Amino acid sequence: MNETAPARARAEIDLAALVANVGTLRAYAPAAALMAVVKSDAYGHGAVPCARAALGAGASWLGTATPEEALALREAGLGGRIMCWLWTPGGPWREAIEADVDLGVSGLWALREAIQAARAAGGRTARVQLKADTGLGRNGCQPRDWPELVAEALRAEAEGLIRVTGLWSHFACADEPGHPSIGAQLTAFREMVAYAEGQGVRPEVRHIANSPATLTLPETHFDLVRTGIATYGISPAPALGTAADLGLRPVMTLSASLALVKRVPAGHGVSYGHHYVTPGDTTLGLVPVGYADGIPRHASGTGPVLVGGKWRTVAGRVAMDQFAVDLGGDQPAVGERVVLFGPGDEGEPTAEDWARAAGTIAYEIVTRIGTRVPRVYVNSE
Ligand SMILES: *Cc1c(COP(=O)(O)O)cnc(C)c1O
Repeated sequence: MNETAPARARAEIDLAALVANVGTLRAYAPAAALMAVVKSDAYGHGAVPCARAALGAGASWLGTATPEEALALREAGLGGRIMCWLWTPGGPWREAIEADVDLGVSGLWALREAIQAARAAGGRTARVQLKADTGLGRNGCQPRDWPELVAEALRAEAEGLIRVTGLWSHFACADEPGHPSIGAQLTAFREMVAYAEGQGVRPEVRHIANSPATLTLPETHFDLVRTGIATYGISPAPALGTAADLGLRPVMTLSASLALVKRVPAGHGVSYGHHYVTPGDTTLGLVPVGYADGIPRHASGTGPVLVGGKWRTVAGRVAMDQFAVDLGGDQPAVGERVVLFGPGDEGEPTAEDWARAAGTIAYEIVTRIGTRVPRVYVNSE
């Protein structure tokens, strides 16, 4: 999309901000390589343009959840190392191996499928990264199952079918400073890495740090940090400070054009359920985006927008395609720009403000912006 995108709504993606964030994150972890995590369409920002900008800014790895996301990056012509980690049986192992994607593997079934695919690919060596569950309790291999996974990987490595390129894990509570699980996971990770290396694994990269760990826990950086949300200029959690406190700049600005401005009398119900009733004669502005566009319905009555230089609040319910704001008698022109969130420079709310309003995290705010909202890339030089 470009500047002529339809005016109903748009998500401007500031690639210069993304580039600056990658530089900032590299400075937080100067001894480690950086993986820009671009899963879920780069947290809603657009995977290919963001991945390209991140590589240009010095990220040497791209990370995705699914193999399909990884393959789409290769198909778009992106180089660099790419890793994906969310596999299900029968996944596109062979395609991923042939596309030079590193395979994150959490258990024996997955390792065996990877080995079989490498054999089918005519002896092309699969790059496999063994994932340890050091305490997250989600994906990853439990410590008790680790020796078997490592042994099977070493056997396949001896046959030349795979190469164990990485040992890695993921934190549960890195966004909660001082949480006791952080130290416990780090200890478990060191032990599981030491065990694998003791058995003869020679990984290129050992990694466990996500955005919050990259920003606040230098002892977790190892050889590589995997930054998602911070790449997009959003603080991982209010407890770590705002984006500005962390030196990050929000990449996405979501705006819409006012679709209607009208006078209404006092006592007028607004939107489904009439959960807002005008306290006096006023003006209502109609904002033509709704939950189908990713505007959280939980922000009914609370979500902030900037219109005509003033913060206004969603009046009543967010509907599928639209919501209203009480303009307090002001009469901005139809078509006037309404900013839902952005970097905050011009006084607009941020995605973090929307997260607070909706009782969620800013990750969810940006990631859920729907496909009906065009992404408009700016500052791409
Ligand atoms: C999503 C994800 C990340 C990035 O997390 P952020 O908190 O957004 O930095 C890193 N590693 C894994 C395994 C992930 O799934």
